[in-house]
Amino acid sequence: MVTREDMRLLLQVAEWTVQSHRHVMSTIRELAGSEEHYLIIARELDRVKADNARARSFHVEATLTLVEWLIIVDFYQWKCAYCQEKPFEVMHHRVPLHKGGTTPSNCLPACRGCCTRRKKKPPDPAPLITPTENSKG
Ligand SMILES: [Zn+2]
Repeated sequence: MVTREDMRLLLQVAEWTVQSHRHVMSTIRELAGSEEHYLIIARELDRVKADNARARSFHVEATLTLVEWLIIVDFYQWKCAYCQEKPFEVMHHRVPLHKGGTTPSNCLPACRGCCTRRKKKPPDPAPLITPTENSKG
């Protein structure tokens, strides 16, 4: 369970990594404040970096930042965007990565089950609004 307070902190750390273009794990650990937050940041940072690298290898767009990814994941309450029941496990691409790239509008959190089955139509993209602007919840 990631609370509003957790999310605010995670976004602060994520913004630092995006603005500084540095991924110094010791500083990230310090900024994150707790081991739990640090592990979330480290895991999602790796995920974003790996998927951007994969997109670049296909010469398609690779623009997703850690901040954007956290906002998308938080929009779906850290659950799978398809079934909205299970916690998300993988970054899923609406349009296959080698065509659609790794961009905010192409990436969704998904559980492994929905990712392999994919019977359901992908949900609409998460609006990229910051949590403070999202007063409706
Ligand atoms: Zn699912």
